[in-house]
Amino acid sequence: MNKKTVKDIQVKGKKVLVRCDFNVPQDKETLEITDNRRIVAAIPTIEYLLQNGAKVILCSHLGRPKEGPEPKYSLKPVAEELSRLLGREVKMATDVVGESAKTLTADMKEGEIVLLENVRFEKLETKNDAELSKKFASLAELFVNDAFGTAHRAHCSTEGVSAYLPAVSGFLIEKELEFLGGAVQNPQRPFVAVLGGAKVSDKISVIENLMDKVDALIIGGGMAYTFFKAQGHDIGTSICEDDKLELAKNILEVAKQKNVELLLPIDNIVAKEFSNDSETTIAESGDIPEGYMGLDIGPKTVEKFKSALVNAKTIVWNGPMGVFEFPNFAKGTTAIAKTLAELDAITIIGGGDSAAAVDKAGVADKVTHISTGGGASLEFLEGKVLPGIACLEDKRCCGNCGH
Ligand code: AMP
Repeated sequence: MNKKTVKDIQVKGKKVLVRCDFNVPQDKETLEITDNRRIVAAIPTIEYLLQNGAKVILCSHLGRPKEGPEPKYSLKPVAEELSRLLGREVKMATDVVGESAKTLTADMKEGEIVLLENVRFEKLETKNDAELSKKFASLAELFVNDAFGTAHRAHCSTEGVSAYLPAVSGFLIEKELEFLGGAVQNPQRPFVAVLGGAKVSDKISVIENLMDKVDALIIGGGMAYTFFKAQGHDIGTSICEDDKLELAKNILEVAKQKNVELLLPIDNIVAKEFSNDSETTIAESGDIPEGYMGLDIGPKTVEKFKSALVNAKTIVWNGPMGVFEFPNFAKGTTAIAKTLAELDAITIIGGGDSAAAVDKAGVADKVTHISTGGGASLEFLEGKVLPGIACLEDKRCCGNCGH
């Protein structure tokens, strides 16, 4: 179901509480923001609201304060950066829903902006406490969620507040639903998923959910070795989850039954030690020598995966093909990133490490969509309902399309 966005409601003259994701990286000493992309990404929704006469109240979490207010987690640096980017004053409350927030939001004029302090300075925020949600709601007349990265959490500022205010999405969540949601619910075919990363256990639900939707499933990275061992192959000292061997066998079986082509690496870059400087050699997948571990997919595998991708119309990628943090074992991951960038297909990067890999490979602007939420995008791919999205109002359909 499509969710209403800021464009589907009247915002003029209204106080609008916008949940953003301003959880930006900072220099530990100076607290200077080291990457402002999350703030930049929030600007279109904020600008739209300002231009349409709203009174904008922004909120976000930053880091993980455990004991209430802690100066190092203050959103003050974010207020300054926002003010610089918007070219307007951003008033900063010294609390979340206390006297300062109430005073600053009481007599706002159209086009004014107030940023509340870190929502996690309120200890009940993450408990989705009804009283705290009501306090958030009492500051505004509308709620806009634009923080996809926390949409899988039912917290007061991501979900609870929607019980007391009309709730719609901002443009960032709208884009996530369009691409990530579109791929999972109604993909252009062939639809191929590329999954990597360390563990099968972290991706079981994604594999199970996607198995019913994809035409082909490519599995690389550390998790491939559990599949090889399940097939009775030697994997040397490669990472493996011995308690997931049966599950891996079962996944291979289900793929056959469902007619999903499941591709595993055919060769691997292997080394004796888990280190960038360890000497490397290439080993066939069925035959990794004793004492060696697979740390990246090999060149033949890159070609095999490329040919499985070349005709795809929709591709979702989550998880690196090897230990890409080590430059000597990043080749496979970089090759996949570059391949996706060259394709004439809808290419969706499911956050976290794959987003970092696409960035590193310098092709971030050549893929269709990079999800802004690691955990949230994984839960989306698992087919789970995200509370911060489920709580938003549905767009009413035309009445003729059967929705
Ligand atoms: P995940 O968070 O599950 O997507 O896993 C990402 C991590 O998997 C990265 O830190 C990679 O270094 C790691 N990884 C990928 N391939 C391997 C491998 N062959 N052996 C060990 N770790 C791996």
